[in-house]
Amino acid sequence: MSKNAAVVGAGISGLHACYLLEQQGYRVDLFERSDKIGGRMSSDRKSGFILDRGFHVMQTGYPIASEIIDYEAMGCKAFEPGALIIASTPTKRKIWRFSDPFRRPIKGLFGVFNLFTSPLNLLRVGIMRLNISRTKDDELFSEGSQTTIDYLRSKGFSEPFIQRFFRPLFGGIFLESELRTDSRMFKFVFKNMSRGNMVLPENGISDCPNQLFQRLESTNLKLNADAEVVSDNGLLVDGEQHSYDVIIRAFDSEQSQITRDVWTLYFAAPESPLKEKYIMLNSNINEENALISHLAVPSDIQPTYAPENQSLIAVTVVGEDARKQSLTDKKAVENSVIAELTKWFPEKISTWRTLDVQYIQSALPELPLSHYDNLDTISNTDRCGDHTYHGSVEGALISAQLAVSRVLKNDA
Ligand SMILES: Cc1cc2nc3c(=O)[nH]c(=O)nc-3n(C[C@H](O)[C@H](O)[C@H](O)COP(=O)(O)OP(=O)(O)OC[C@H]3O[C@@H](n4cnc5c(N)ncnc54)[C@H](O)[C@@H]3O)c2cc1C
Repeated sequence: MSKNAAVVGAGISGLHACYLLEQQGYRVDLFERSDKIGGRMSSDRKSGFILDRGFHVMQTGYPIASEIIDYEAMGCKAFEPGALIIASTPTKRKIWRFSDPFRRPIKGLFGVFNLFTSPLNLLRVGIMRLNISRTKDDELFSEGSQTTIDYLRSKGFSEPFIQRFFRPLFGGIFLESELRTDSRMFKFVFKNMSRGNMVLPENGISDCPNQLFQRLESTNLKLNADAEVVSDNGLLVDGEQHSYDVIIRAFDSEQSQITRDVWTLYFAAPESPLKEKYIMLNSNINEENALISHLAVPSDIQPTYAPENQSLIAVTVVGEDARKQSLTDKKAVENSVIAELTKWFPEKISTWRTLDVQYIQSALPELPLSHYDNLDTISNTDRCGDHTYHGSVEGALISAQLAVSRVLKNDA
C-alpha cells in the first residue's frame, strides 16, 4: 500500500513539495488555510486590471526555478535589463537611463557618459559583474559573511552611488532600507539579474503557483483548512486528528521570521509615464520625506495587466521607510506617495486614479547573517518555505526539495 503524506501550506514551496512527494509514490493531502492556493504569489482582478498582491517579478536567471517553472507557457515577457533613475527637486527633475552594457552595448555605452555618477563607479559595477558572474552559485554562498552595504563599500563604490543606485534597487528587492541583507544573497540576486531577465506572466504572478498546481496529478487539496502539526505524524484540522507517514510544514510555523513588510500602490493612467520598459529607481530615496523605492508599469510589459488604452502603474514603498515617517495608514501613505509622484510627473499626475493601496505585512523573511552559513543544513527536518532558505521564489523551491529529501530519508 502506498504511503501517505500531508503538506501544510499551498504557497509555491508547498506545491512543489507535493509534486516531489507524488513522484515518490506518496498519496498527498495539501492543507491551505486560506481560500486559494499560491500564498504570497497571488493576483486579483479589479476594473479590468490585474493587481498582483505586491509588485512582484520572476527572475529567469534563477537556476532551480527555471528548471521547474515553464516561463514560456505562462507567456512571460521581460523588462529591459537596466533601470531608469530619477532625481527630483520641487522645481526640476532628471532621468538617466542605466542600461546593462553587457546586453545592451550601445545603450550601455551611452549610459557610461550619462553623468549620473563617475565613470569609476560604473567601471566598478562592470568588474563586480564579471567577478560575480564567474563565481559558481555554491561558491557565492560559501564566501564570508557581511552586510550588503559593507560589501559595496569594500568594493570602493562611492557613498552617493550606493545611496542613489544600490539602495533604491536592492532596498526595493530585499524590502529593507539599510542594505543589511547578507552580501551572499546580494551577489546571488545580482548574478541572476545579469544572467537572466525580470519577467511577468501574462495573467498575473498567480500563474506561477497555478502552473505548479496543475502539474499535480493526485494531490488532494483542502482549502480553508487551518492545520496544526501536533506530533511527528499527527495533524489536527478543524478539530479532527489525521495520521500521516510524513508531514511537511510549508509555512512560517513560528510566525516570527517573515517580518519584512511593503506597501504597493496601484494607479490607473491614460498612458504610461515611461518611454521605455525599465523599472524606475528613486535616487532621492535616502533623503528626508522620500518614500518611493521604485516605480514600474506592468502593462508596458504585459498589456493584459490593464484594459485597452489604459496603463497600470505600480509603486513600491518599503515598510520601514513608511514607518520612519510615521506613515502607518493607507491614506497617509497614499498622500505622501502622490506628493512625491507630483514632483516626478507634474503634468500627468492629475490624470491618474488610485486603484489600490496594498499593505503586505509578511512579505519577506528577516534572516540573520549567520543563517547563510549553513543554508543546506537546517535542523528542522519537516520545514520548508523561503524563510528556511532565502527570501525568493528560488529559495522557496529549493527549500521544498531539501525538505522532501530530508523527510524521505527519515521515512525510509
Ligand atoms: C510583495 C512581494 C514581492 C515579492 N517579489 C519577489 C520577486 O520579485 N522575486 C522573487 O523571487 N520573490 C519575490 N517575493 C518572494 C516570494 O513571493 C516568496 O519567496 C514565495 O512566494 C514564498 O513561498 P512559500 O511557499 O515559502 O510561502 P507562502 O507563499 O507564504 O505560503 C505559505 C502558505 O501557507 C499557508 N498557511 C499558513 N499557515 C497555515 C496553516 N496553519 N494551515 C494551512 N495553511 C497555512 C498560507 O496561507 C500560505 O498560503 C515577493 C514576495 C512578496 C510578498
